[in-house]
Amino acid sequence: MKKTKSSILIIYTGGTIGMKADPGDQTLKPFDFSQILEEVPELSKFACKIDSYTFDPLIDSSDVEPTMWQNLARVIRDRYDDYDGFLVLHGTDTMSYSASALSFMLDGLGKPVIFTGSQLPIGVPRTDGKENLISAVEIASAKTEEGKARVPEVCIFFGDKLLRGNRTTKVSAEQFDAFTSPNLPPLAEAGINIRYNEALIRRPDPSVPFSIDTRLDTRVSILKIHPGITPQVVKNILLGPETRAVIIETYGSGNAPTKPWFLDIVKEARAMGKVLVNVTQCPSGCVNMNLYATGKPLLEAGTVSGYDSTTESALAKLFHLLGGCPDNERVKELFDLDLKGEISK
Ligand code: ASP
Repeated sequence: MKKTKSSILIIYTGGTIGMKADPGDQTLKPFDFSQILEEVPELSKFACKIDSYTFDPLIDSSDVEPTMWQNLARVIRDRYDDYDGFLVLHGTDTMSYSASALSFMLDGLGKPVIFTGSQLPIGVPRTDGKENLISAVEIASAKTEEGKARVPEVCIFFGDKLLRGNRTTKVSAEQFDAFTSPNLPPLAEAGINIRYNEALIRRPDPSVPFSIDTRLDTRVSILKIHPGITPQVVKNILLGPETRAVIIETYGSGNAPTKPWFLDIVKEARAMGKVLVNVTQCPSGCVNMNLYATGKPLLEAGTVSGYDSTTESALAKLFHLLGGCPDNERVKELFDLDLKGEISK
């Protein structure tokens, strides 16, 4: 089969990769994309066409809002037919949230959407930004023998690993290996060659056309259980009238205090019709509320299992499901499904 030249769109949203020290207060601030290109002349050696789209304003990803995810989805939709792959340059702090959100908002995705960034700015001699960017371009443009996208998924490429976006979490503010996907092996690893783990890569159902769903409802909160947590704090988060769903970050395999006051508040929240999701605080492993006597009462009080979901992914999934569905009971049912490879069931 004749191989045609790939074309990639680099979408620049901000983040350390494109930052420079402000001469005034020396804090890192984003600069424009042309300066990134100057720092990475290697990009011109790729046998693929590379265009760019720059968000305005460029942001530190700590300022990411769901409106930015909606804009990102629209940018990809409007140019979907023009490119073989999309690369999103993004700050690392919230990259896992954004990649998770996009995975739920893009449907029938047949092309790679690869997020990357760096721990050190691209103009700094020891930067990890160049390696990350160059390998991410290679992955975004990679095709199978049949000429199809090698990785038609929303992913994060960082360090030397390609990870499914909705499985990732940022684990280091220091190391170049800043991300892991604790419950799923990498989809690819970059050494001398990029080795793809074909068995893990999701392939789209050809009968589902590409589309985006930008409806998001952010009325979700997170309750992290800890020794010494007070009834007032639990009440404030679980019974707040402004939330439709709460992620309860529990211990181990989904365990929480069994004190009557705690379970009473959980039951009251359920009686208010809220969606309560049980996600473990452990970086790896799965919620199983039937395992311990400290897990079962949560199940009986009406919480749903987050399985081995990350908190980032559970949050994005709830935004997405609540946005598309006014019925909380239906959201509970949909949450239980593996929609985009985000849980192991
Ligand atoms: N604060 C930065 C950001 O998330 C950190 C980074 O990019 O590594 O935008």
